[in-house]
Amino acid sequence: KKGGRGRFAFFADEMDAFVKDRQSLEAELRAALSEGGQLELAYQPTFATHSGKLSGVEALVRWRHPTKGLLMPGTFIPLAEDTGLIERLGEWVLAEAARTAGAWPIERLAVNVSQGQLKNPGFADKVKAILAETGFEPDRLELEITESSFAGNGPEAKDNVAKLRDQGIRIALDDFGTGYSSLSHLRDLDVDRIKIDSSFTSAILPGAGGSAIIRAIIDLARAIGLNVTAEGVETDEQRSFLSSVGCHELQGYLLGRPMSAGQVSRLVETAKG
Ligand code: C2E
Ligand code: CA
Ligand code: CA
Ligand code: CA
Repeated sequence: KKGGRGRFAFFADEMDAFVKDRQSLEAELRAALSEGGQLELAYQPTFATHSGKLSGVEALVRWRHPTKGLLMPGTFIPLAEDTGLIERLGEWVLAEAARTAGAWPIERLAVNVSQGQLKNPGFADKVKAILAETGFEPDRLELEITESSFAGNGPEAKDNVAKLRDQGIRIALDDFGTGYSSLSHLRDLDVDRIKIDSSFTSAILPGAGGSAIIRAIIDLARAIGLNVTAEGVETDEQRSFLSSVGCHELQGYLLGRPMSAGQVSRLVETAKG
C-alpha cells in the first residue's frame, strides 16, 4: 500500500513537471512568434530520379531556443497544434520561405501545412495574401498536407484545397501510406503528388517484400496521373529500386540533408553549371 502511494506521488510530481514544462514552452513559443529571431528554416532538396537534377526544396522549421538549443519540429509542432499557435507559426513559415526562395531558380518550394491551418475557412485567402505580399508565384508553391487533415473533419479542408488549386498552388499528400485507407483517399482527393512515407522506403531491403508495396503504390499513382516522391532515401539500393519502379522524385539523406538558405544558394548555383 505504502509503496503504491509512493509511486503515485512520484508519478504526480512527474506529471506536474511535465505540465509546467509544457506551459513554459508554450509561453516561450508565443514570445518567439511575437518577437521574431528564434525561428528559422532549413531546406531539404528533392531530385528528379532519372536526370538527378534538383527539382525543388522543402522548408522545414527549427526553433533556436535561447536556453535549450536548436529544437526540431517534433518537439514543438504538436504543442503549436494543441494550443492554436500553429496558425501564426504556419504563416511565419510560409512568408519566410516565400521571401527566401523567391530568388532561387527552382521549380518548386514545398511547405508543410498542419490540420489546424487547413481547417480554418480563411486559410486559402491567407495564403493568397502572403504570396501577393512576398511576390512568390503560386505555381511554384506546393503545400504538403497529410491524409489525417481530411479525416473526420467538416468541408473546410476540402474547400481550402479547391481554392488553393484554383490559385495554381499544387498539393502533395505527405507521409503517404501511414494513414487509414490511403488508397481510397487518392480517389477522392484532388492532389498533384504523393510523398511515400520513409517507413516504406526503409523497408526496401534486398529481396524483401516491403518493396512490393512501394511498387504497387507507384503503379497506382502513375495510373491516375499523380507525381510520386519517395522520402527518406538513404541507400544506393533504395535509389536504384525506386528508379526501376518509376518513382519520379527522391528525397533523403543520400541525396541531400536539410540545409541553410546559404547552402541552397550555393547548390542552385552549381546546379545551373
Ligand atoms: P516531414 O514533412 O515528413 O519531413 C521529413 C522529415 O524527415 C524531416 O524531419 C527531415 O529532416 C527528415 N528526413 C529527411 N530525409 C531523411 C532521411 O533520409 N532519413 C531520415 N531518417 N530522416 C530524413 P524534421 O525536419 O525533423 O521534420 C519533422 C516533421 O515536422 C516533418 O515531417 C513535418 O511533418 C513537420 N514539420 C516540419 N516543418 C514544419 C512546418 O513548417 N509546418 C508544419 N506544420 N510541420 C512541419
Ligand atoms: Ca513534408
Ligand atoms: Ca513526409
Ligand atoms: Ca514524416
